[in-house]
Amino acid sequence: MQKDENFSEWYDRVLLEAQIVDDRYPVKGFSVYLGWGFSIAKRIVQMLEERLEEEGHQPMQFPVVIPEDAFQKEAEHIAGFAGEVFWITHAGENRLERRLLLRPTSETAIYPLFKIWIRSHADLPLRMHQTCNVYRYETKATRPLYRGREFLWNEAHTAHVDYEGAERQVRKGVEIYRSVYDRLGLSYLLLKRPDFDKFAGAVYSLAFDTWNPDGKVNQIGTVHELGENFARAFDVTYEDEKGVQRHVSTTCYGMGIGRTLAATIAHHGDDHGLVLPPVVAPKQVVIVPIPFKGSEEAVAAYSREIEARLSGAGVRVVLDDDDRLRPGEKFYKWEMFGVPVRIEVGPREVEERSATLVRRDTLERSKAELDGLIDAVRRLFDDIYRSLRERSWRRLEEEIAEADSLDQLRAYMEERRIVKVNWCGDPDCAFKLKDEVAGEVRGTLWERREEPTGPCIVCGDAAKEVAYVSRTY
Ligand SMILES: [Zn+2]
Repeated sequence: MQKDENFSEWYDRVLLEAQIVDDRYPVKGFSVYLGWGFSIAKRIVQMLEERLEEEGHQPMQFPVVIPEDAFQKEAEHIAGFAGEVFWITHAGENRLERRLLLRPTSETAIYPLFKIWIRSHADLPLRMHQTCNVYRYETKATRPLYRGREFLWNEAHTAHVDYEGAERQVRKGVEIYRSVYDRLGLSYLLLKRPDFDKFAGAVYSLAFDTWNPDGKVNQIGTVHELGENFARAFDVTYEDEKGVQRHVSTTCYGMGIGRTLAATIAHHGDDHGLVLPPVVAPKQVVIVPIPFKGSEEAVAAYSREIEARLSGAGVRVVLDDDDRLRPGEKFYKWEMFGVPVRIEVGPREVEERSATLVRRDTLERSKAELDGLIDAVRRLFDDIYRSLRERSWRRLEEEIAEADSLDQLRAYMEERRIVKVNWCGDPDCAFKLKDEVAGEVRGTLWERREEPTGPCIVCGDAAKEVAYVSRTY
């Protein structure tokens, strides 16, 4: 099963065999999270929610339906999402007086309540978040976790006394997301999207784009500065210290949980299946007894002793004592599930009071005394995490190329690379580029300005920016 040669086939097989997602639900674009996959997803959600709440975001849960009149308040927003909206028009046989839609994102659900809650500057900043499903009738080809018509995400919404407050929150949102991606060992480009591709209704949008083995960049999170755009549309105001009514400034940010899970699978997995960072692995250690005739009971008892020690130390451990499978079949199975560490226990380990450890990422073997086992396992977790993270960042660097002609860009696009080009900033050049090379201008680096090294790759005029171009999901 070759991941890099045929990612699509590899991915489909891993989703099913490692019980991540079942895509056979009989509605296109909707799929079922399975036990292993949802356990990983929940751990990603938990890491994110903890960070958001540490930073003052209150957990909330808004209704999934939005009334039509609220949705239509912000003109750009409705223009951006209208084509993808699922409408609820009937209750039984009766046509609803007021049509409802399933949230494609929740600004228009949340702002009418912000208007009620926010009275004075003392109510600000207001920060909330929710983990929920959103609904978008995607017309592009759907792909489980990458692009569905229902997807699981976490969205945060914040309101501030002024634009500077919202700007600080944008940076805070970036920092929170970065901390989660970092713990997952994921590399990414943090790009400012070009104006024509920003969130509908935003002042500007930032996005975390990450590489994918098939060359289509995966957007795993976005952070938006909304300025007063939504506050004006929904008339969300507060009274300042001098008694003057002012519009709040707002931000929002969203992390696709499915896409983040997809990136974790795609970055770290190998030809044997999943490779999970220990922090999100539903089981971090699997113990596989390898008994020989006459040693069955001693091996079983010693395996249970190891299990008890590890679980007593807070390690998520499973003892695979299923007699129906041979040890080799168990290795194969747990490698597919990406369990970070395997412990093999035979008569020799029983005699020596030791354990043989195999790390999933490199399949390297090592030995540990029983008394030092917990430390040895923790050290392996750290090593695995660091090595996965380094590999992911190295791969991102390798994916990036630079082109100074359309022919060169086209050749790199065929190699499915991420390509830096000089760009004049004119949207028409970006659209022309898309027609010519099947790649999209994704934006410019947000935190570090890169100086153009030549003229615009499309029109030949002076370039203002260095843009990143790639295929995309
Ligand atoms: Zn140009």
